[in-house]
Amino acid sequence: MAEGLSGDIALVTGANRGIGKQISIDLAAAGANVVLAARNVASLADVAEQIEGAGGRCDCVSLDVTREKMVASVVDDIVDRHGRIDLLVNNAGIGAGSQYPWDLPVDEWWAVQEVNVRGVYVCTQAVMRHMTQQRSGRIVDVGSLVGANPNTGAAPYSVSKAALFRWNSCLAEAAKEFGVSVFIISPGLVATDMTDIPQFADVPEDQWVPIEKSGELVVALASGVADKLAGRFIHVLDDLHELIEHADEIIEKDLQSLSMQMYNDPF
Ligand code: NAP
Repeated sequence: MAEGLSGDIALVTGANRGIGKQISIDLAAAGANVVLAARNVASLADVAEQIEGAGGRCDCVSLDVTREKMVASVVDDIVDRHGRIDLLVNNAGIGAGSQYPWDLPVDEWWAVQEVNVRGVYVCTQAVMRHMTQQRSGRIVDVGSLVGANPNTGAAPYSVSKAALFRWNSCLAEAAKEFGVSVFIISPGLVATDMTDIPQFADVPEDQWVPIEKSGELVVALASGVADKLAGRFIHVLDDLHELIEHADEIIEKDLQSLSMQMYNDPF
């Protein structure tokens, strides 16, 4: 087992399957003590077994990211038991779409914002209460390029990930003062339950990204090696070492970010 994150306390939301499961396994393999969070705690048994079978450490908790008091209590409990929290991975997310962007029932449209936007805020607020006190920590939001480029067939998802971009950059700027580094990543197109839908049935094999890339990137970000890039978007297919090497240029030119390109800049 790698020792890079030895003893770090990490909370991963949506850890029972898909990308969250992979990230959790890789963080544990790198030495982190991972708190696996899912709405149904029983669904985490298989992940915990894999982690512990490989000599890693984890705990399983029941957590719905949209429920403020439940999240606060889970996070406070982690800090009571371990003395701190080093990493939050806001991975839990849902998708939804329709032929036309206006077709979806209002409640289904809003449910996507509840999980993908409110859920991230609820979890972030709960950990920031502790990270600002301990004056350290890292937060990784699992975003998507669909937040930067409109996707008509998945409009509520696209809206939610666009909101996540802006939220992440606001948070990252303010969190620096407290020694907290914040990132937003994209896993690329990954074969999970979320993408096991007709819309993706004809996507050629070479456009799918291996799920392991997400774990690798989160482990690297959790190690602190890319802290200079805090507040920047990082795709799993980016060459992270190249980005780190050119961090000053990236910040100066405001690259790896969501910004408005105006024909005439009135400012
Ligand atoms: P997935 O297999 O459908 O997993 C989604 C996870 O989110 C599940 O663990 C699910 O848990 C959890 N979740 C949903 N609502 C929740 C809630 N209210 N509280 C707690 N957990 C909740 O999807 P995935 O592909 O791994 O996606 C993970 C993240 O990657 C998402 O944020 C997604 O937007 C992002 N992403 C995925 C892709 C892709 O190609 N797959 C691309 C870009 C970004 P339950 O079992 O309780 O439902």
